[in-house]
Amino acid sequence: MRIVDYAMHGGCAVLTLTNPPVNGLGFDLRRGIVAALDQALADAQVRAIVLTGGEKLFCGGADVREFGSPRSGQEPGLLAVIAAIEASSKPVVAAIAGVCLGGGLELALGCHFRVAKADASLGLPEVKLGLLPGAGGTQRLPRAIGLEAALDMIVSGRPRPAARFEGSALLDAVVKEGELLPAAIAFAERAAAEKMPLKRLRDVKLNAPGADAFLQFARNNVKAANRFLPAPAQCVEAVAASASQPFDEGLRTERALFIGLMNTPESRALRHAFFAERAASKLDVPAGTPLREVRQVGIIGAGTMGAGIAMVCANAGIPVVLLEAKQEALDRGMATIRGNYEATLKKGRLSPAQFEQRLALITPTLSYDALRDADLAVEAVFESMEVKEKVFRALDAVMKPGAILASNTSALDLDAIARLTQRPRDVIGLHFFSPANVMRLLEIVRGAATAPDVLATAMQLARKLGKVAVVSGVCDGFIGNRMIARYGEAASGLINQGALPQQVDKAIEAFGLAMGPFRMGDMAGLDIGWAIRKRQAAAQPGKDFADVADRLCEAGRFGQKTGAGWYRYEPGRRDPLPDPEVTRVIEQWRADRGHTACKIDATEIVERCIYALVNEGARILEEGIAQRASDIDVVYLNGYGFPLHRGGPMKYADEVGLPNVVRALRRFAAEPGANPALWAPAPLLARLAAEGGSFN
Ligand code: NAD
Repeated sequence: MRIVDYAMHGGCAVLTLTNPPVNGLGFDLRRGIVAALDQALADAQVRAIVLTGGEKLFCGGADVREFGSPRSGQEPGLLAVIAAIEASSKPVVAAIAGVCLGGGLELALGCHFRVAKADASLGLPEVKLGLLPGAGGTQRLPRAIGLEAALDMIVSGRPRPAARFEGSALLDAVVKEGELLPAAIAFAERAAAEKMPLKRLRDVKLNAPGADAFLQFARNNVKAANRFLPAPAQCVEAVAASASQPFDEGLRTERALFIGLMNTPESRALRHAFFAERAASKLDVPAGTPLREVRQVGIIGAGTMGAGIAMVCANAGIPVVLLEAKQEALDRGMATIRGNYEATLKKGRLSPAQFEQRLALITPTLSYDALRDADLAVEAVFESMEVKEKVFRALDAVMKPGAILASNTSALDLDAIARLTQRPRDVIGLHFFSPANVMRLLEIVRGAATAPDVLATAMQLARKLGKVAVVSGVCDGFIGNRMIARYGEAASGLINQGALPQQVDKAIEAFGLAMGPFRMGDMAGLDIGWAIRKRQAAAQPGKDFADVADRLCEAGRFGQKTGAGWYRYEPGRRDPLPDPEVTRVIEQWRADRGHTACKIDATEIVERCIYALVNEGARILEEGIAQRASDIDVVYLNGYGFPLHRGGPMKYADEVGLPNVVRALRRFAAEPGANPALWAPAPLLARLAAEGGSFN
């Protein structure tokens, strides 16, 4: 089949795009559209033309597989394709079903008429990649639906159902029932028979009284809401041009703004994040690895994580058996789940019927017998090898052959857990993040013995659960927590050197993280780290695990939950207030340990904290714990609040330039008393920097 299928229906030529999966507008398709258009224009039998993607989807926009390649710039570009369609002497009708996004909508806007299924999804999502619609979308959409509505769609990037545009110049007909194509062909034939004037949006004079005031208001709002991202503000400027400039000049303005955005680090970061997420789901397992079916899930432990994971499964329509050791704990877990669903119900984000359905999918139990039919078990009991051992032995005894046994452990050795069973090939880690029903990230931990089909099944399940999954090898803390430990060490080192918590947090938040390390610590609770350090000190006598946070904990300052930690908190409030008492504790600590305080600026604070992440990330990559640098970025963007506009720690290091990162690390490593494990550049990082390479 040709990439644009050409068929005659009476006097109507139907041009059908056939470039799976989403009719991405790559070079071959663009050329194919123009060729088919020329064929129709040259044929005297053809009175009208329908351009469509069939009954399922119209076009998802640019072909992402072509991004950055020479073919993406090869003529005919999308602008030329659209110009050819718009100039056609015969009426061209876009017949739109399913997705009609980005370049796809711009293509449709170039047609003279548009007929859409009511549930088709129309949108210009370019802003989500740090760009703006660059093929006339910012000039034609306002002429079709008005300045305000167009601006909202372009700045938010959110698609809208076609039904919403009934009666506007965007759609000439909305098909609510039955097939799209017969309706579109009938419309096209009528347009030809009645000699309807061809509507070219470029010729529409945009009537927008009060545009200046509205645009100024929009500029202010958009700027305030997008501190770190230039694209939304540029979208406003491009749309503004549709009101103030003639069409062709507006197109040139749009193009110039588009090219400007293409070269920003923010857009590079957003595009990187997009591709990184796609890459993360690709596994190094043999092609055609069969998947195991997961029709029912057992969850062991109904605490914080178990209850959340049960909701994640129920939300995806998967029946769950939730097992606890004691009735009270089971009741508590079920009450948490019910309470969470009730809150969602109250907010109107769940219908009463859905509420009942979700709860009905979760069956509480105290008996392992109830797990006989489960295809997968997720263990989420206390973080203790002794407890996990009991659970895994029981699971091994009761679960059917071929069932998958997963652990949600954060730090225990998954391979040791696997060895507790007679079926280590069926054991895997599913490391959800808290709250499990909210956080998008899932680390899939691949043990030494984990079978390829178990890994592939876990990845497929993650997709079904709406999670972004990254595969990690077995090590202490896996990808995310192993790196965050280094970040914590760097932050704590800054306090020793002379910084105050509020200074560190301010610098990190200005860099773009939602919360600096000390505010984060107060939220999570300082007692957790304190307990770990005490355990470590007992296990390794003679080694120094002491931290200034110990002194805060000794004074009962565990963070938000005790009203004081690195900051103080007014009763019932969560805004962190700098506390002179903390400054005093820190100064005393420095004096006792013989640290001399120096002045540290924001740049160095960011360098130390972020490069500590990068350096550990490089080790993780070199050890093969992560498959790709971009996987590490996916972990940080989705599980640790790393700013999207930086693209993740590894991408950020690439942007800074690896030689610069290495130079800073060497400077930190050369300081008296510096910890080489933290600051000595990882061999992979040093090598890439020397070779002029990059992580991505
Ligand atoms: P939790 O203390 O809230 O819940 C543990 C639950 O397991 C309790 O309800 C307990 O009654 C139950 N339990 C204990 N022994 C059991 C047994 N033998 N059989 C059945 N149930 C039993 O703990 P949590 O925070 O939900 O953590 C659970 C696991 O998830 C741990 O391995 C933890 O490291 C990991 N994890 C926690 C987080 C987090 O942020 N809380 C994040 C990721 C992973």
